[in-house]
Amino acid sequence: AFSADVVPQAPEDPLFGLMAAFKKDSDAKKVDLGIGAYRDDNAKPWVLPVVKQAEELLRKDPDLNHEYLPIAGLADFTSASQKLILGKSSPAITDKRVVSLQSVSGTGALHLGALFLTRFYNPAAADAKTIYVSTPTWANHNQLFSNVKLPMKGYPYFSKETKGLDFDGMVSTIESAPEGSIILLHACAHNPTGVDPTQEQWTKVAQVMKAKRHFPFFDCAYQGFASGSLEQDAWAINHFVEQGFELMIAQSYAKNFGLYGERAGCFHFVAAPSSDAVDEVSRVGSQLAILQRSEISNPPAYGARVASRVLNDEKLFAQWEEDLRTMSGRIIEMRKQLRSKLEAKKTPGTWNHITDQIGMFSFTGLNEQQVQTLREEYHVYMTKNGRISMAGLNSHNIDYFAESVDKVVR
Ligand code: PLP
Repeated sequence: AFSADVVPQAPEDPLFGLMAAFKKDSDAKKVDLGIGAYRDDNAKPWVLPVVKQAEELLRKDPDLNHEYLPIAGLADFTSASQKLILGKSSPAITDKRVVSLQSVSGTGALHLGALFLTRFYNPAAADAKTIYVSTPTWANHNQLFSNVKLPMKGYPYFSKETKGLDFDGMVSTIESAPEGSIILLHACAHNPTGVDPTQEQWTKVAQVMKAKRHFPFFDCAYQGFASGSLEQDAWAINHFVEQGFELMIAQSYAKNFGLYGERAGCFHFVAAPSSDAVDEVSRVGSQLAILQRSEISNPPAYGARVASRVLNDEKLFAQWEEDLRTMSGRIIEMRKQLRSKLEAKKTPGTWNHITDQIGMFSFTGLNEQQVQTLREEYHVYMTKNGRISMAGLNSHNIDYFAESVDKVVR
């Protein structure tokens, strides 16, 4: 029944393929700049000290068991997640205009939101039922939205010339999209480019979207990881909420808690301020619960318990903020060093974008041929588009990496 013309061999996921190739490479100099996970200065995964503390508390809790969580997840976790992303004193929360469901990390939140939109989003113009994503964007967005048959289009985002934001292209495409289109926005630390709009640019994007009654869907996978400040990294979302938008947020705790495999995340729907908002949130929440039930029944408990302990305890929260600064600080330091090493070598090209970009990734501007040479001759692994994970660089390999880049660019 499943012959090759019915089920052809699918290509391997490029990122996970890269990981496998790196593992196989037996050269001692090899450098992994592919995967989007934090590494310490010895290229090792890092369990955040605050996560260890929370896990210790969980182990000692005599009341813990392995019962199912409710369909919407752990209530202490979802309510703390609202406060984290919207701010403790957000009017949206006090007005009860937010409904939140715990999700299978950020991917699960994006999926739940996308599924809800396919079922229920009904803009006046039929061709507005399209989600606009940045070009380029996180590769999984494409398959995720096509899986639920949500039509997708791109808006320009990255300028090859400046290796910064193509702001005019972004705004003009969003402006000319049919009224009521869905616009996916990376809340901070854009993946894969590391390029974020400034606050002034976000303000303009919000104005244009408001005039066109577009629907924002924020993907927030790096809160606290980009600047080191949780509030600063949520600025764009909160600006849109203040402007009275109705919107959705996919919130991931994979990177900022280092809880990658535990799949801790949250989906939020924020209704616009109106006399109907509380009722709307209740109706939307009831449908989301049905979708959640049929898809995953109920979310996984462990990661949410760990995060919830931290989010709901002042002392642990302060420790978490310190851990976030450790991660973002090391990454920022690697950016500085990489740029200055390349500039010192007079490597052809400009390298200011390495420190201008923020978050885990940098779009180096290396082309596919250069990426391939780096991999085959220098044992340096990165994605084909020239994206490097800054977290893969450390004091032991940064000289070797800068030398290798210098050689392939010349
Ligand atoms: N969105 C973006 C832009 C990402 O980079 C990632 C992870 O790399 C995710 C969402 C979702 O990650 P997870 O499902 O592990 O939370």
